Amino acid sequence: MATPRHGCPLCQSEGGPLVWRGAQLRVIQADEPGFPAFYRVVWNAHVAEFSELTPTQRADCMQAVVLVEEVLREQLAPRKINLAALGNQVAHLHWHVLARFDWDSHFPDAVWAPARRAQDTARIAAIAAKRAMVHDRLHSRLAQWQQAQNV
Ligand SMILES: [Zn+2]
Repeated sequence: MATPRHGCPLCQSEGGPLVWRGAQLRVIQADEPGFPAFYRVVWNAHVAEFSELTPTQRADCMQAVVLVEEVLREQLAPRKINLAALGNQVAHLHWHVLARFDWDSHFPDAVWAPARRAQDTARIAAIAAKRAMVHDRLHSRLAQWQQAQNV
């Protein structure tokens, strides 16, 4: 396993509210105002690039991304799921998995682009109100997956 990197926020802390932690990776809720269904799949060990993982690890990482995507689709029926792995600011491998809605402040642009409209606080609150249910579902799907894999 790679050594934790001094000064790396994802080595020094979970990186946000923890939804689930497995042996290889964890899922955290991203604290991004205006985006109530924004999650990150964080590889636990410090690696910068996806290609540093073994083929099996890459498949595990993407399976976790898919599980998060599926739960968000089932529970929230978003207009679109966005997946991204940037790491320009925090070069510790993590995938962004976020549900997008056609009413969100940036749709159809990326969440990192300038806002197109004001935040719809009522709709944001309605999605945020489902968070406990979404997290329960994420936790059970990910735990089931890990158990089946026995990793
Ligand atoms: Zn790190």
